[in-house]
Amino acid sequence: MPQTRTHCPYCSLQCGMTLRDGRGAPSSGAGGGRGAPSSGTGGGRGTLEVLAWPEFPVNEGGLCRKGWTATGLRGHRERLTTPLVRDRSTGELRAVGWDEALDLVASRLLALQAESGRDAVGVFGGGGLTNEKAYQLGKLARVALGTSQVDYNGRWCMSSAASAGNQAFGIDRGLPFPLADLEQTDVLVLVGSNLVETMPPASRHLDRLRARGGTVVVVDPRRTPTADRADVLLQPVPGTDLALALGVLHLLDAAGAVDEAYVAERTTGWEDVRRVAAGWWPERVERVTGVPATELRALATLLAGAGTVTVLTARGAEQHAQGTATVLGWIGVALALGMPGKPHAGYGCLTGQGNGQGGREHGQKADQLPGYRMVDDPAARAHVARVWGVAPESLPGAGRSAYELLDALGRPGGPRALLVLGSNIVVSAPRAGHVAERLEALDLLVVCDLVMSETAALADVVLPVTQWAEETGTMTNLEGRVVLRQQAVPPPTGVRSDLEVIAALAERVGSPVAFSADPEEVFAELGRASAGGRADYSGITYDRIREEHGVFWPCPATDPADAGAAPHPGTPRLFGDAFAHPDGRARFVAVDHRGTAEPTDAAYPLHLTTGRVLAQYQSGAQTRRIPDLPDAGPFVELHPMLAARIGAVDGRRVVVTTRRGALEAPARVVDTIRPDTVFVPFHWVGANRLTNDALDPSSRMPEFKVCAAAVHA
Ligand code: SF4
Repeated sequence: MPQTRTHCPYCSLQCGMTLRDGRGAPSSGAGGGRGAPSSGTGGGRGTLEVLAWPEFPVNEGGLCRKGWTATGLRGHRERLTTPLVRDRSTGELRAVGWDEALDLVASRLLALQAESGRDAVGVFGGGGLTNEKAYQLGKLARVALGTSQVDYNGRWCMSSAASAGNQAFGIDRGLPFPLADLEQTDVLVLVGSNLVETMPPASRHLDRLRARGGTVVVVDPRRTPTADRADVLLQPVPGTDLALALGVLHLLDAAGAVDEAYVAERTTGWEDVRRVAAGWWPERVERVTGVPATELRALATLLAGAGTVTVLTARGAEQHAQGTATVLGWIGVALALGMPGKPHAGYGCLTGQGNGQGGREHGQKADQLPGYRMVDDPAARAHVARVWGVAPESLPGAGRSAYELLDALGRPGGPRALLVLGSNIVVSAPRAGHVAERLEALDLLVVCDLVMSETAALADVVLPVTQWAEETGTMTNLEGRVVLRQQAVPPPTGVRSDLEVIAALAERVGSPVAFSADPEEVFAELGRASAGGRADYSGITYDRIREEHGVFWPCPATDPADAGAAPHPGTPRLFGDAFAHPDGRARFVAVDHRGTAEPTDAAYPLHLTTGRVLAQYQSGAQTRRIPDLPDAGPFVELHPMLAARIGAVDGRRVVVTTRRGALEAPARVVDTIRPDTVFVPFHWVGANRLTNDALDPSSRMPEFKVCAAAVHA
């Protein structure tokens, strides 16, 4: 039976897997362990099986339960297979042909632009789209539609780490080294990452690190499964990670543990950071963060004595109105210790969405063109315009960031139409109730999706598109490794790929240039557009990816070390000799802890934080429909002391309220969370109706990870 090497449809690890097309053959059942086959679809629909791919180095054959069951949407009864258009008289969606749907969308987009200008149309993408789709979506917006109003949900995922990485290192690659390097570090500090639960195959690196005598430190308000596999847990008040970093810097400096030679040779800005850190003595840090001064001192001592230290941040540290500053604070810790650029050490960000890295490199961001070029850079505009075959002055400038774009929908001067691909914003946006109201205010909402997501259910036009096993395209995983998802099975009749939809719409709105729907052709064009940019893919081909288990960017077309003759090998590790700033030095950036955007008060005395659970992914639009994944619905995690105070009982419903809304869900009474904090997973409608839309001034990241809340039994 045909087998196809591909990658999981979900998170940024992009685990390798083999899909066996067993149409007509009996299902081999639902396996679970490494190497065990799984139909993933439950009884009867075992036509596409997930098998291990042991040679792929990132996961070495391991998958989490989401990966093993990923084929569960194949043949699902809720799969969309025909375009739908909302009937104006009945308000119901009715099935139409592709030509009717696409003609309608194109004519209405053009009419709205004729009335209200090019920016009357907005485009909203996703961090799960392939590189090819992200690239074509940005080009659709800027070339075919001529709108500046394009952004994507990755703005809500890794943008604070991206902003901090660019400021500190001059480049933004989540991990500047392969994931396996973690095993060799002496001390690994995970700030706001629940890696064991969110990407289980990666947890083997923690186990191997500890087996060789290394230490794992977790900083998290909750004692997560990751903390259970760590040596040290610090549980700060949500939103105080920056104060903790400044406290560590204070103690390192006081102990003479700053690597002065490294700081002098490879960085700038330390003295300004030193001055800020001087004000963060341990007792002050304890008052702000709730972390005992003794624990802070023990952490500083551990770090000062380690030969190699790696600091990793994830959403817990980054999804704040001070997210960029928080990451800069922890980068400062790594720099003060002299780690970035040293083997098996440094700083990295664990991206979240499947193409969290590549999704931000190829032009679907409001302020960026392909190759991680800035849209306001004349040289970047000239290069990309040349590849696209248009005049540079025809390209619009920077648009609104993701939340600001949604907040402007239907308002004077804001977009009147929105095209959404790869995003379920009704569930995933902050202050989601307000965002749903803005979507309702649109003249036209068009959603491309596999199933009737909560966002698609509001649309005027729904276009059914292929899922991962039915199409080919590249993804860039959290290491900067470009991998290839290969088509394993044909799509259902009536379904088209996102690339086909983009190409058809571009043609219908009168694009001055043609859009290819062939992924390999699009990737080659993407390579040319990225050439010379920070994220240079010009030396990467589908064949190389297949042969080399992925290729790390930057990968120019030729290797400058070989007189331009040989292919560039790709770049698994960055910063060994120099950082990406023109002077080759990293930047310490002086930042100070300011507190959360919405402090607690008498009416809302608790901190609400949100996150993921093992069996679900992002807005849950896919995983909630997988029969073999448990869908327990939302819950409210709270400490026994808090439960006793409000009369909450485990399993009985409680109500969480914030200034933006309320959520009723069963209580989970656990002693693994701070008594002043409640946790709600965000895979279901409700959690993000509570979250705060205060934005980071640099990254425009909303403060998903903390707001003031009350709980009632
Ligand atoms: Fe898929 Fe991520 Fe699970 Fe790997 S860890 S199988 S990429 S969801």
